[in-house]
Amino acid sequence: MSEQRFIATPKRTKEILQKYQFTFKKSLGQNFLVDANILQNIMQKAGIDKSCAAIEIGPGIGALTEQLAIHADKVVAFEIDQRLLPILSDTLQAYDNVHIIHEDILKADIQKIIDMYFKPNQTIHVVANLPYYITTPILMKLLQQHLPITSITVMMQKEVADRMSAKPNSKSYGSLSIAVQYYTDAKILATVPKTVFMPQPNVDSSILQLTMRQTFPVAVNDEDYFFDLVQACFAQRRKTLRNNLLAYFKNRLAKETVESVLQQAEIDGTRRGESLDMAEFARLANAFQIAEHA
Ligand code: SAM
Repeated sequence: MSEQRFIATPKRTKEILQKYQFTFKKSLGQNFLVDANILQNIMQKAGIDKSCAAIEIGPGIGALTEQLAIHADKVVAFEIDQRLLPILSDTLQAYDNVHIIHEDILKADIQKIIDMYFKPNQTIHVVANLPYYITTPILMKLLQQHLPITSITVMMQKEVADRMSAKPNSKSYGSLSIAVQYYTDAKILATVPKTVFMPQPNVDSSILQLTMRQTFPVAVNDEDYFFDLVQACFAQRRKTLRNNLLAYFKNRLAKETVESVLQQAEIDGTRRGESLDMAEFARLANAFQIAEHA
């Protein structure tokens, strides 16, 4: 198919929108991609080829779905907006390897869909231009459910991509960085101008790639306990670790116990949360968990 006829061009997108009298719903984060070059780039960086399967979240009118259909073996796309279903069956009629599922991704049983549509042991990549209002819940769901996914390559708000991929001692580093990097190796592939979207969003965007880890980078005794403690260490960014921990354990542990656990874990309480790397947080969480349950 000639590039001129790809869905992801301003001309073709306008034609489709007009034909169906489609009006954007801001509440559903509808900013459609109108730049085929960016999509080709995403296909390449995501490693999409005819041996693999792809999951898309929010196909819109099918700009990215079309590229996935061309490059992957099979595509499953979840779309919440019913108005887009007849449009997608029109725009994607040339491709018989796409299944559109009319469902809220946050409610979907993704493992069941994988079992239904993909070959056993097929490499699965998630690729999406995410609805920005639920970027974090979508990604945390994908990460925490231990799905058989190899990588996630997604367009999202630049500020959120910065936080997910941030390293210690940077402004964007926080509990979200730890949560995402516990499960994946996170890399920003590109920053994207607003002009590649229709309508243009108010914020800048980045393409973030999350490669799922085969083994966890640190050993934690209890994942929930670990993530709660990390969050507590960032509760008030300007406060020292000691003060955040004293506030967090106020009704649970004596002040002296908090001090002695810090010493045991060999972490200086005058440091700030943002200076600790994941291994130090793991040491701290394991030491507090043992102290609390002793
Ligand atoms: N992939 C298309 C593109 O790049 O042109 C559209 C991307 S647009 C940023 C986000 C899409 O996600 C919209 O089609 C929107 O209707 C859909 N969406 C929003 N919330 C959703 C949800 N909870 N579950 C599934 N799809 C959702």
